[in-house]
Order: sequence, then C-alpha cells, then structure tokens
Amino acid sequence: MTAEISTHFIHEKIEADLASNKTETIITRFPPEPNGYLHIGHAKAIHLDFGTALKYNGRCHLRFDDTNPAAEDVHYVHAIQEDIRWLGYDWGDHLYWASSYFDQMENYARQLIEKGSAYVCNLSQDEFKSYRGVPTEPGREPPGRALSIHENIALFDQMKKGDLAEGTYVLRARIDMTSPNLHMRDPAIYRIKHAKHHHTGDTYHIYPMYDFAHCIEDSIEGITHSLCTLEFEVHRPLYEWILNELNLYRPQQIEFARLNITYMVMSKRKLLQLVEENYVTGWDDPRLPTLSGMRRRGFTPTAIRNLCTQVGCTKFESLTEIERLEACVRDDLNETSPRAMAVLDPIKLIIENYPENQTEELKIANHPQNESFGTRTVPFTRECYIEREDYMDDAPNKFKRFTVGREVRLRGAYCVICTRVEKNADGKVIALYGNYDPETRGVNPLDGRKVRGTIHWISAAHACDAEIRLYDRLFTTENPLADKTTEFTEFLNPDSLQTIQAKLEPSLAKAAPADRFQFERVGYFCADRDHTSEKTIFNRTLTLRAAKKI
Ligand code: ATP
Ligand code: MG
Repeated sequence: MTAEISTHFIHEKIEADLASNKTETIITRFPPEPNGYLHIGHAKAIHLDFGTALKYNGRCHLRFDDTNPAAEDVHYVHAIQEDIRWLGYDWGDHLYWASSYFDQMENYARQLIEKGSAYVCNLSQDEFKSYRGVPTEPGREPPGRALSIHENIALFDQMKKGDLAEGTYVLRARIDMTSPNLHMRDPAIYRIKHAKHHHTGDTYHIYPMYDFAHCIEDSIEGITHSLCTLEFEVHRPLYEWILNELNLYRPQQIEFARLNITYMVMSKRKLLQLVEENYVTGWDDPRLPTLSGMRRRGFTPTAIRNLCTQVGCTKFESLTEIERLEACVRDDLNETSPRAMAVLDPIKLIIENYPENQTEELKIANHPQNESFGTRTVPFTRECYIEREDYMDDAPNKFKRFTVGREVRLRGAYCVICTRVEKNADGKVIALYGNYDPETRGVNPLDGRKVRGTIHWISAAHACDAEIRLYDRLFTTENPLADKTTEFTEFLNPDSLQTIQAKLEPSLAKAAPADRFQFERVGYFCADRDHTSEKTIFNRTLTLRAAKKI
C-alpha cells in the first residue's frame, strides 16, 4: 500500500531527525490495550503510526499493552488484529506484548529500589490522594519514604510472591512530592493484582502501571518516535525520568490531538457500557464507531484512511463533523460499488398491455461511469414493484414521476404511462396500472424521447424478499459527553435502527456477506454478516446524499 498521508509537524520533526542523522530507521508503534474493540479514533493513531513508518520506509510495531489483566481478554486481541489488517496495515514480524517484558520490568523496578529511587508504600487510596495534594499546593512525604533499601526490597519480594493482598501495597517512584506536576509526586509504578492474565496466566502477582511499562516497552523495542494523544503530554516528564534513572535508551514521545467526531462517543469504557447494557447488539453493531461496526455497516477502509488524511494531525483538540466522514464514505462507494435495484416501500405497477406470461431478460450496466463493472441481466415482467413515493395524486408539474396520465421510464426497461390507480377503503394506494411502449426498450435514456423521469423497479414474480436495516445516528446530540450532569445514554436516538421488508432484484440474493452496492436512487447498502442465500439481510450504509442541514 502506498503511504497516503499528509505532512504535518510530526513529519517535519522526523525529517529533521533523519537529516541530522539522529535517526536512521523510523520505528513507531501502535500500542492498544486489549480491553475493547478499536474505534475510529484508534484508526487515526493507526494511520499515523503505520502510515508514518510506511512514508519513511521504517516499520511500525503492533504492541499489546496488556498490563491490566482484569479488563483484558484474548478475544479483544484477535479483534484488534483483524481490524488493523482490514484498515490495510501490516506489522509483519513485529508483534509484541508488554507482558513478555514483565521479568525485565521487575528487574528495572528492583534497580530503582536499589538506588533509592523507588519505595514500597502502604497508604490506602484515600491516604495516597491526600498525601499527594493538589496542583496548587505541595504534597506531603508518605511514611514509606523513610524505609531502608533493604526493607523495600523485602516488601517488594513479598508483593511479587503473592503474599500480600491487592490494594495493600504499591511500589512508588521517589521523585518529588512538591512537583507542580501531580504525575511526578511519587507515582505508583507497580501494584498487586491476583487476576489471571490472558497471556501469562498465574505467573505474576504484581503488574506495572501504564506509565512505568510504556516507556520501558518503547525503549526495549528501540522505538524512535512514540506518538501518543495529548493527554500524555503531562506524563512525558515521568516517561523521561524513568528511562534516565535506569540509564536506558530514550525514544521521543510526541503528542497529537485525538480524533473526535460529532454524534459519536469514542471511549472504550463508554462503548463497553453500550454493549453490556444492550443499547446496541454487540461491539460490531453498525451504529457504533468501532471499526468492526463500520465494516459491518459497509464503510470502507479507504474512506476511513482518507478521513484521517484529511483531518491531518495537530496539537489542538477539535470535533470533526460526522458529515466529513460520511462524505469520504460516499465518495469511495460511488466509485467502487456496483449498482443494483431495490424497492424499499413497494407498491405494484401492473402494465396492462404487456403479455401476461412473458419474461424479458434485460441487460443493465453495473456502473454508470465504469464499464469494467460489466453488465447483469434483470428480469422484466408485466407486474413490477416500484417505490410508493414514485407516485403522487394530482402531482405538480415538477414531480417527475408517476401520476395518472404521466409517462416515466423504468430504468433499463421501457417507458410506461400511468393510466389509473387503485386504492383501498382508507384511500391508500394499492396498485398502479399503466401501459408500456414497446418501442422504448433499452438502456439509453437519451433516445430523444421526452420522458420526465427514470425510476427503479423490480419484477414482482422474481423479487427477492429482504430484511433491510436502516441506521441513523446513535445519538441525538453532537457531543453526548458535553453535558456532565446528564448520563450520555440519555441522548441515545430511539430511532437509530429501523427494520423494514423490501423487494430486491434477484441477483442480490447471491451477494456474499459484506458485499457493497449502490441501490439506485436509494442509497448505499451492504450485505450483513448474517446474510445467507435463505435470508437476505442488507444494512444501509448511508443515504445517497447528505441530508440538508437545517
Ligand atoms: P479509549 O480512550 O477509547 O478508552 P485508549 O486510549 O484507552 O482508548 P488504547 O488501547 O490505550 O485506548 O489506545 C491505543 C492508542 O490509540 C493510543 O496510542 C491512544 O492514544 C490512541 N487513541 C485512542 N483514542 C484515540 C482517538 N480518539 N484519537 C486518536 N488516537 C487515539
Ligand atoms: Mg489507553
């Protein structure tokens, strides 16, 4: 894959490092914690980490930051790998685990204790906070600071052996309880956890804290540029302190702004809540901003990468409009998806002058601009389904579809004039009747005949019954997390999923799960992962055009 990535401040820095021979090979990493599925925010980080490595002929490591056994699961490990591959990136042989460095990390922790730079502390969580203080006031020295190196080593060994209960002791770095940066006020670097780890089983009873682990992982792997989101800026002094104290190679940490998109929530914890509390059907629910949800919905990896390129990389927090993402998806699908016909809200059109037992196989192009998509045959018969909204009583002149007395072209078939309409007792249209003109058969609407409009249709005898899932935004408000006093689930859109029964052209029954189409005049659709030849299920990816903003 080519490196389709724009240049920005991070690349300028990298280019300077290459020019000054500070760095020879660019090595980046993408470090997910396997405690949930990846979302489109992660796609920005993946695009940056892998894309940068590609751009400068370096490499990007996939490293599972699996330092918290309680929340992690091997199921997530597999899902994350699948999603990264789907986005179009490959880590080659460079798959790593934080957990495979645990022995090394314990040794480094011991080194810190031995040089008096770390100590064991038994404050409760509340006491820990109270001693740490607030940014405007210095903290107080915790009692553990007074222990001897010997005592600290003995306690650390007990922690390690599993002799001590969770929450009783932590190992802390001895830095500065008066630092204006709270992260530097003797942060915890190791804690006791008796949970079973998905990768190392019951081997360990203590686990490194993120800040201690991350810089060591980066250093061991020789990462040159460790790209992370802005919230880690205040952790950078600690990153540097730990590696300096241990006299280890120090990668450069560079921060960038997270991707946030309107009408979406982008935190794994919030997404987990939506899944666990059954607001959605699972992590791959097509309404979620997860990559697996977007894939199931029909979004393409190209569209997501294009969005990331467009949004670029800055140091400023911002909210990207969902319409930008949707425009990227439409642009890509317009080019790449074959056309087909589907009638979502069917009424019958009976062509009275067409022979009753005749079926014609009409050849229709699969893409209006791209001949390489080829053609398909679509059966045509006397009775067709058309969209209810393609008929109107007493239609105004500008209505280019059916009303009694008006002629309309059936796409790729014939021109038909509507002669009468049949309604039920409530006045609801049940069927239209019309006559066709046998002279007008063809695929070319530019045959000089003055027809007002062209509509799609399905032969009633051949129609494939399908379940169609129409998705709308999951939330009713641009930023569901903005209002801190209201639970974000209060802003869920009750109409985010509508399931309807529709009529499709018969070729669509043969679609494979994940196949994408443009249903002409209706929108972009994708066969669901549960779609089979017995049960046809399509998800609406997007409508054909963006709704007008009011
Ligand atoms: P979340 O905040 O959704 O729970 P996380 O940051 O805890 O995500 P990690 O698995 O630690 O999830 O993320 C892996 C990488 O993805 C990190 O480098 C993180 O900075 C980056 N990342 C996470 N969310 C975003 C986002 N919205 N935009 C850009 N990068 C992100
Ligand atoms: Mg994280």
